[in-house]
Amino acid sequence: MLRKFGRSLLGLIYPNRCPVCGEFIPADGEFCKRCTDELTPFTDEFKPIGADGFTAAFEYNDKIKPAVMLLKDGICGNAAFALGKALARRLTETGLAENSDLLIPVPLHKRDKRRRGYNQSELIAKIIGMELGLPMRSNILVKQKLTDSQKTLSAAERRVNLSGAFSVTDTSALCGKIVILIDDVCTTGSTMAELTSLLKRCGAAQVRCASCCKTMKQGEKHDRSQ
Ligand SMILES: [Zn+2]
Repeated sequence: MLRKFGRSLLGLIYPNRCPVCGEFIPADGEFCKRCTDELTPFTDEFKPIGADGFTAAFEYNDKIKPAVMLLKDGICGNAAFALGKALARRLTETGLAENSDLLIPVPLHKRDKRRRGYNQSELIAKIIGMELGLPMRSNILVKQKLTDSQKTLSAAERRVNLSGAFSVTDTSALCGKIVILIDDVCTTGSTMAELTSLLKRCGAAQVRCASCCKTMKQGEKHDRSQ
């Protein structure tokens, strides 16, 4: 209630805009009506290796791209709010939010976080935490190694690239817990698979993965090997 009031007040100073097309929308709005109708909900089956479930709010395509770009370019605007709310709804609809204990965002290396000014997955996880009434911990997982962009790497190269890139700072916070790992975009799922394995080795009972968008490359639609 207070939060809604706060957004309404803020809306008087900084009018809220659709993060896809820039049209003015109500203070508590996510996307404008036209964009909402044109976005493609993620309905495919996919799961990162070792994960206890996966969901995404949208298929990644040219329509949702401007919202993701806003999120990544350091001019977050309404993007984290809109994408976070949509993913929170998906987590509830799919049952993945049920009995879960903790939200953990995929971490950025501190150099990348400094450059952008924030971790976009953390902003999304914060919104989801408020929507679902779950605690969000952004200091349990850290990325200690700078990695190359995964885009052009093969599956084997991705594994080598990510090897030793992440560590856990607080295993007691994970012991027996059902964790939801949050990312902005999931491509092959190799980062989520690496983090799932690490969180489980450090005591997490379950790791459920969720991203705002999932890429749907030609021919990848039914490839569940990654
Ligand atoms: Zn729009």
